[in-house]
Amino acid sequence: MKLSFLGAAGTVTGSKYLIESGSTRVLVDCGLYQGVKALRERNWKALETDPASIDAVLLTHAHIDHSGLLPLIVRDGFRGPIHSTRPTRQLAELLLPDAAHLQEEDASYANRRGFSKHRPALPLYTRADAEAALEQFREIGFGAEGRVGPLRFRMQPAGHILGAASIEVRDGERSVLFSGDLGRSDDLLMWPPESPGSPDYLVVESTYGDRNHSDEDPITTLAGVLNETLERRGVLLIPSFAVGRAQTLLYCLHEIFERGLAPRVPVYVNSPMATSVTELFRESAGYHRLDEEHCHEVCSVARFVRSVAESRELAARFEPMVIVSASGMASGGRVLHHLKVLAPDERNTILLPGFQAPGTRGDALVRGVETIKIHGERYPVRARVRQIDVLSAHADQHGLLDWIGRCGRPPRRVFVTHGEPVPADTIRQLVGERFGYAARVPALGESVVLD
Ligand SMILES: [Zn+2]
Repeated sequence: MKLSFLGAAGTVTGSKYLIESGSTRVLVDCGLYQGVKALRERNWKALETDPASIDAVLLTHAHIDHSGLLPLIVRDGFRGPIHSTRPTRQLAELLLPDAAHLQEEDASYANRRGFSKHRPALPLYTRADAEAALEQFREIGFGAEGRVGPLRFRMQPAGHILGAASIEVRDGERSVLFSGDLGRSDDLLMWPPESPGSPDYLVVESTYGDRNHSDEDPITTLAGVLNETLERRGVLLIPSFAVGRAQTLLYCLHEIFERGLAPRVPVYVNSPMATSVTELFRESAGYHRLDEEHCHEVCSVARFVRSVAESRELAARFEPMVIVSASGMASGGRVLHHLKVLAPDERNTILLPGFQAPGTRGDALVRGVETIKIHGERYPVRARVRQIDVLSAHADQHGLLDWIGRCGRPPRRVFVTHGEPVPADTIRQLVGERFGYAARVPALGESVVLD
């Protein structure tokens, strides 16, 4: 069996691994690079290998940095099955067309402004490509064994987000386990990641390889921010990621009201994507910690804003309330309409519940800018801006090491991927020191024979 690292080497996005056994070729994940331009430009380079020669894709989870190039390889000739869990397929049905829509918008913006080298600028892929990719999905349950030629594979829960899996691939002699993105053992909604078993080789993510989450309780912290805002009779606006984060926020708000930690105020979810993902969450009992009844109660804490007219009406209203709206870094989406109205008023709070990438509007807010630009106009920021980092869906350094240390026997080698250079190298070093396992950080494009 040969393993090649085609992405997520030395960086956190663009996950892509190729496994070859005889003439069988399987991709594990097929993610989009995100972030700075130099990374995004890599998306345009053809996959190092002919997509038509790939027999199957095994998908760990639906996040775009793991799934976002599937439409491209399908357009370029990949005709095999894309194996995933049911929630991953359902999430991909929401996320891939949305990713395609953003690509189409980028291209049409570049054409209007004439700043592309290419005339006309073309999208990386289209909605039709995304729809075609979705046709190739095949569901497999956790624990069931799948086959591609001589290779067998099995998915096991990884926590993180709905349907997320670690995937073990074996060729009869050797096995390799891909961690996918690992969730945290104390996640409020997701189950802890399942132990790695006894793989011969381990490929492990390292997003938070050099950091530990604070032990702050997210419910108490959020209750504090909400109370401060309500004392000023203001609105609490939370720009949130639609997948996972928005549902965790609803869970926290439900707990806050149930335990009487803050007065009950109306909660609105104003994001079509967050609404759809929350519906999926309700239908996916067994894939997360909440039973059907509890899940129903949690979702009932909010009113879901559907139409554009309702969204406008909400943006025009001013009363003490909570609005959860996407996008998570305030780079687009309906949250912008709320920001225009709410940012200039000192009674309000803008709460950013997660990491804000440099260069985004969310990052500017956290840095304390006096004005923000939205749709070409500047708006003063007088609202309080708060950031909390207690709702991450990723295992931290402690969680990663705990998971790796649960291997039934020492793997022949551990490959540390999906991390910036420092976090990846930190995990590499600690894995050696603590467990005596041979570990390395592979280079982009590197191939190793798993013998
Ligand atoms: Zn992820």
